[in-house]
Amino acid sequence: MTDFLSEIASGPQFRRKSRSASVSYGSREVIVGGGAPVVVQSMTNTDTADAIGTAIQIKELARAGSELVRITVNNPEAAAAVPAIREQLDRMGIDVPLVGDFHYNGHTLLHDFPDCAKALSKYRINPGNVGKGAKRDTQFAQMIEMACRYDKPVRIGVNWGSLDQALLARIMDANALRPEPWSVQAVMYEALITSAIESAQKAEELGLAGDKIILSCKVSGVQDLIAVYRELGRRCDYPLHLGLTEAGMGSKGIVASTAALAVLMQEGIGDTIRISLTPEPGGDRCREVIVGQEILQTMGLRKFTPMVIACPGCGRTTSTVFQELADDIQTFLRSQMPSWKLEYPGVENMNVAVMGCIVNGPGESKHANIGISLPGTGESPAAPVFIDGAKALTLRGDKIAEEFQAIVLDYVKSHYAPSNGVSDH
Ligand code: SF4
Repeated sequence: MTDFLSEIASGPQFRRKSRSASVSYGSREVIVGGGAPVVVQSMTNTDTADAIGTAIQIKELARAGSELVRITVNNPEAAAAVPAIREQLDRMGIDVPLVGDFHYNGHTLLHDFPDCAKALSKYRINPGNVGKGAKRDTQFAQMIEMACRYDKPVRIGVNWGSLDQALLARIMDANALRPEPWSVQAVMYEALITSAIESAQKAEELGLAGDKIILSCKVSGVQDLIAVYRELGRRCDYPLHLGLTEAGMGSKGIVASTAALAVLMQEGIGDTIRISLTPEPGGDRCREVIVGQEILQTMGLRKFTPMVIACPGCGRTTSTVFQELADDIQTFLRSQMPSWKLEYPGVENMNVAVMGCIVNGPGESKHANIGISLPGTGESPAAPVFIDGAKALTLRGDKIAEEFQAIVLDYVKSHYAPSNGVSDH
């Protein structure tokens, strides 16, 4: 029993000790690491040169809850558009910090477009493609110089798809001299970790403060990510950006991301996450933000939006009424959150149960702040509603969905408005 209790006590609240890095824009400051809540971030997939289209997508991602938004800065047209994107966001009242994703030509773009360098709140540097041969160190140093000049933090983001080939060759040579050489996989892990840590050390030697550096080592396999981050977390105290480099599409992408991130975050590893889902054609980019939030919330690490607890349904539910009601309520709650989080602090702690029949319906509903137990097959057509553990009323007829939504809204207003003094409900 003692072990069980201590496991509950340490649980997912244990965090690897790390420095903290501040990523800010105006009065908006996002702290990454140092025990701060794990930050959810995302990346646009618009052409950055299209300033209006990119600003609109950033606004959507920010409103969905993305606390940092990364945009690719891949050519002069994109770099020239960054200040216009920032201005457009300012006009829309969106103060989310922007991160510039640089590859190959970041040193030139940051130098040639100082307004871009100033408008961004963080630079992502990939040491694997910052330059080849003798140019590599010079161009890396130029990017760090820009970060120092404009007082910006950087993410040194290593990716196994673009690993520094010279460093990989060096580690392979050293491996060949070992009496018992490591496996190819172990050499790859070592190269990823070494690239991140040596680049961070070099950045510090060039004058960038240690609390301006965040690291990542992204791979696309779940077991690879877990192994690499466990070791990376052990070897340094920089904040870590966590995510699979290509999670994939649909349920596969969500499951792979959850499997990898849950293991690591349960061990306290990871200070900011990005879920790299491939959207379906025409799909919603904000899905990656929602998935990231749901991973953190279901793990008990953060709270973003009221949770809807719904049973899976079974042969006792012959209609789709309860699935539709669960979906409607979840969509309604999420759509309200941008304004509710300002008007009703603490509302994200609310639980709503939508259950399909009498078997578990009343019991689960009593555990939630508000619950409804819909009638299953053969039950009388009545839906008891439970509020704070007690049966409050019964809904009937074909307006159950609207009436239940109104009850939820009343509950939010009466329990979470600051003037009620119960906002920490
Ligand atoms: S609560 Fe009722 S409808 Fe839902 S899964 Fe359980 S038995 Fe089936």
